[in-house]
Amino acid sequence: MDHFQMRDGVMHVEDVPLPAIAAAVGTPLYVYSTATMVRHAQVFSEALNQLPQAPLIAFAVKANPNAAVLATLAAAGLGADVVSGGELLRAVNAGVSADRIVFSGVGKTADEMALALNHGIYQFNLESEPEAEMLSAVAVSLGKVAPVAFRINPDVDAGTHAKISTGKSENKFGVAYDRAQAAYAMARDLPGLSVQGVAVHIGSQLTDLAPLEAAFGRIGGLIESLRRAGHRIDVADLGGGLGVPYDPALPPPPLPADYGAMVCRVTAGWQVRLVFEPGRLIVGNAGVLLTRVIRVKQGVNEPFVIVDAAMNDLMRPSLYDAWHDIRAVTPSGDRFTANVVGPVCESGDTFAMHRVMDETGPGDLLAFMTAGAYGATMAGTYNSRPLTPEVMVSGNDWSIVRARQPIEALIAADSLPPWLAKEKL
Ligand SMILES: *Cc1c(COP(=O)(O)O)cnc(C)c1O
Repeated sequence: MDHFQMRDGVMHVEDVPLPAIAAAVGTPLYVYSTATMVRHAQVFSEALNQLPQAPLIAFAVKANPNAAVLATLAAAGLGADVVSGGELLRAVNAGVSADRIVFSGVGKTADEMALALNHGIYQFNLESEPEAEMLSAVAVSLGKVAPVAFRINPDVDAGTHAKISTGKSENKFGVAYDRAQAAYAMARDLPGLSVQGVAVHIGSQLTDLAPLEAAFGRIGGLIESLRRAGHRIDVADLGGGLGVPYDPALPPPPLPADYGAMVCRVTAGWQVRLVFEPGRLIVGNAGVLLTRVIRVKQGVNEPFVIVDAAMNDLMRPSLYDAWHDIRAVTPSGDRFTANVVGPVCESGDTFAMHRVMDETGPGDLLAFMTAGAYGATMAGTYNSRPLTPEVMVSGNDWSIVRARQPIEALIAADSLPPWLAKEKL
């Protein structure tokens, strides 16, 4: 459920009309709803409240790392799943306590490991044996012991887009299921590691529970055999990946309650603390990208609606062929078929083709729905377009939580080499 509703013909975020924010901040911009993300955090926690041990729900920071989002979710009781030293610092700065932070990713550097060890995080999810060796060496050099799990690649097909599928044997992620015993045996002998668990994450935007259940089943079997081999397994991190509805015409993804029931059933008797790493599920439907129509250009078939947002602001359509619902903020009730594109000089800068949508013209505001996850966080400055601002709404209050980047800042970030700087004098 979200808090983006029509009132008197105008789309509101909670109690704030979107045109008011657009008039004050300009477009394009991201707008987030506090109530929606807090509600999703609650629904997900409630879906897991039958578990024998209280789980750690660690928000996947990469889905939306804005400080206001992280602080909101930290206050709602969520920890953080981070994939870089930068994300770790963002989470800590936003008030996430280190003992609720999990560090994932295949390429942690020695510096990032030292940073996380010095903060005292809850768990490192290791993705290879060489990584285990490096972490042990860094921990020993700091006089610390790193709490670790191995991320296991269960070799299941998540049934999602290839670019967000992570649990097949050919993907770069995790330790192959068949190598797991050897990896744990090796880690046990490393002086800087304390092995405490297993981890799995098979992909994102999953719309079916079956691959998750298959992966968790394999992890259950592995926990048993690891324990038989004498390893202590106290934690099982089941990752994230639950999908959100993008296209109202498609069947909705599984409900958190059904996911929770499946998890309770499959993990019964594991005697571990479970960790979850939801990202998209928490913030996806809590954000929109608000954009203004610049002009409408005649096409061979349908018209091109050219908007002031582009692929640099919202990459998902060009990166994953992602589908976002596009709605008029003040719809007239008329509909037409159009292509929606941005101003960037790439054919890939296309948000929708042959889309039946609210009829719209120059100056109109459009909302790209379900843009709260993997939206602003993936934005870049291609075509020298400054980073998109972000606004957070709570009830009838709203606040800029990231200002529009001034073009001067973008230009000033570069510097000239001395031989060119001299010429300028
Ligand atoms: C991206 C990622 C997540 C979050 O995935 P969602 O689909 O947004 O829930 C969780 N864990 C890891 C290791 C990830 O890389």
